[in-house]
Amino acid sequence: MVGSHLGGILTTPKKKIVIVGGGAGGLELATRLGNKLGYKRKAAITLVDRSNSHLWKPLLHEVATGSLDDGVDALSYLAHAHNHHFRFQQGTLTNINRETQTLQLAHICDEQGGELVPSRELTYDILVIALGSTSNDFGTPGVKDHCIFLDNPHQARHFHNEMLNLFLKYSAYPGQKKRVNIAIIGGGATGVELSAELYNTVKQLHSYGFESLDNSALNVTLVEAGERILPALPPRISAAAHLELSKLGVRVLTHTMVTRVNASGLNTQGGEFIDADLMVWAAGIKVPDFMKDIGGLETNRLNQLLVEPTLQTTRDPHIFAIGDCAACPKEGGGFVPQRAQSAHQMASRCFTNILALMNGQTLKPYVYKDHGSLVSLSRFSTVGSLMGNLMRGSMMVEGRIARFIYILLYRMHQVALHGYIKTGLMMLVGSINRVLRPRLKMH
Ligand SMILES: Cc1cc2nc3c(=O)[nH]c(=O)nc-3n(C[C@H](O)[C@H](O)[C@H](O)COP(=O)(O)OP(=O)(O)OC[C@H]3O[C@@H](n4cnc5c(N)ncnc54)[C@H](O)[C@@H]3O)c2cc1C
Repeated sequence: MVGSHLGGILTTPKKKIVIVGGGAGGLELATRLGNKLGYKRKAAITLVDRSNSHLWKPLLHEVATGSLDDGVDALSYLAHAHNHHFRFQQGTLTNINRETQTLQLAHICDEQGGELVPSRELTYDILVIALGSTSNDFGTPGVKDHCIFLDNPHQARHFHNEMLNLFLKYSAYPGQKKRVNIAIIGGGATGVELSAELYNTVKQLHSYGFESLDNSALNVTLVEAGERILPALPPRISAAAHLELSKLGVRVLTHTMVTRVNASGLNTQGGEFIDADLMVWAAGIKVPDFMKDIGGLETNRLNQLLVEPTLQTTRDPHIFAIGDCAACPKEGGGFVPQRAQSAHQMASRCFTNILALMNGQTLKPYVYKDHGSLVSLSRFSTVGSLMGNLMRGSMMVEGRIARFIYILLYRMHQVALHGYIKTGLMMLVGSINRVLRPRLKMH
């Protein structure tokens, strides 16, 4: 599909470009298209998201532990759309009709189930699917009923409230033997970062007056089925993170498969029962089931849309897919990993390819550039690897430099959304807030 011109569809003025999903990739794309085409009224850009505000997903574990207040950091889609010359429609995609080039959006209900907005249809000339992924419980019994997923801010806030309740209960009965047991299933970045953040939370709560609460009150078990945590990163980084977590007090279990979960804990394949007051499932991701073969498009077993290197779906060149929901072939074999940096890079390539498509030019392939991966162990440490030609492979980084580069990925997302000046101002406000506001959200 590299090089397709799609003559015909792009000759009429004011094409409708619809982007579904305003996350790490979709919102950056909508912003760039709005600034370039919406501003000059060369195309009508519409962003659709089921939520009314955006929070960069890699920050969710900080919302869960209270280190970050999503009320302060979330971005209103409506206001952002207004400033960047695109339209925003709140709605949940349920189906695509490729013959009529129409999307179906589910009705919107209030918390009591009353209908606020009926189901709707939206037509497009060019469609970009960027609706991310959700947790994959692999059908493990009890997970849906007893574990919390960290897929959206609502779930992160739910974890936060449950965690605060547990700590409150613990501190109301000083001297009791039972500790607060938290089990995290999945030793990827989410599980590792959340484990470390919990110890930071306890430290903060102790300083706020929960005097009986300290590291010895917290019992975090991190369960990983594979041979090491952070399997996507080089072994020496896994080893460094494992050591740091163990120093904090986390019980790290590798080669441990969870077979069943109930209200009081989880069973492992090895026969152990792990007692847990609170359980988080972060052991894998997939694209929601309604996406399987949606609109007759080609999907894989994770329900990801198969795309050509140009990011156009294999069966429809008018439909692009980017980010976690796209299965994009990687140079040298395999597929592009589901990460924020991939979503960011794909948004840039999709932007230039949509412009090329509209101008009848050749579309270019997306080439994944791995800049390395960093994992934050809260305020205690940051570990990771950087990739680069200079290093001829990967270089391990730790400490302050690693922390700086870790934060840089979020800053790049902010720059893509707001530009350098506004991002600079936001950093300034963030620094002031660190002085004015409590370090931990308690409500
Ligand atoms: C806790 C956590 C920590 C992470 N840490 C890192 C990290 O350190 N580094 C890294 O590279 N990656 C990290 N990731 C992964 C990273 O967040 C994702 O790879 C990235 O966000 C994918 O971007 P996306 O644009 O594809 O989807 P998302 O950012 O998930 O955005 C999807 C958007 O689609 C919307 N949506 C979903 N379904 C529908 C629907 N049916 N209709 C309309 N809208 C819909 C959602 O509301 C959301 O706004 C982390 C993920 C989590 C959960």
